[in-house]
Amino acid sequence: MSGRINIVQGDITKLAVDAIVNAANSSLLGGGGVDGAIHRAAGPQLVEECRTLGGCPTGEARITRGYRLPAQYVIHTVGPVWDGGAYGEANLLANCYRNSLALAVERGIQTIAFPAISTGIFGYPIADATRIAIRETLHFLANHETPAQVTFVCFGDEVYHAYQRLLAEAERETGEKDESM
Ligand code: ADP
Repeated sequence: MSGRINIVQGDITKLAVDAIVNAANSSLLGGGGVDGAIHRAAGPQLVEECRTLGGCPTGEARITRGYRLPAQYVIHTVGPVWDGGAYGEANLLANCYRNSLALAVERGIQTIAFPAISTGIFGYPIADATRIAIRETLHFLANHETPAQVTFVCFGDEVYHAYQRLLAEAERETGEKDESM
């Protein structure tokens, strides 16, 4: 399963994958961080299509075309704002990954790239957010043949190293299970 996961550093708007995921806000009308970068790179038609969607609740996902992006589609998902952890944040963040991946399956998307949802302006602790991302993605891939490839795009060393560590841990655990069988 972990062979279907890539971890890269860089700008998600440059990736020529079938779909990039946007860490959007619930209006879907653009914002700062990765959301702003995606809207700038996609051009004004993206916000026009987003306007027709009528927003998106936290944890859910919506899909649009990618317009001027190299990616064909944008999957917009709304992560939780971190508020100390007692307000269902973990479950909402897990839903972002599950719902984005489910939408990808529905549309026949083979390659998808995620930013580290909620870890910027929304303030989710990086260690916890990346653990949820890896756990949910591995679980989803174990039960679905697509997407063939999931890329985690890291903006900065802290996120990159967190993903590397978690994926290595997951690989060790699977290896141990295989050996004991
Ligand atoms: P949120 O509001 O969900 O926290 P942000 O856009 O503020 O969303 O941040 C989410 C993550 O995306 C952060 O780790 C941030 O560093 C990263 N990020 C910001 N710009 C880009 C980009 N162009 N490509 C990939 N990741 C990005």
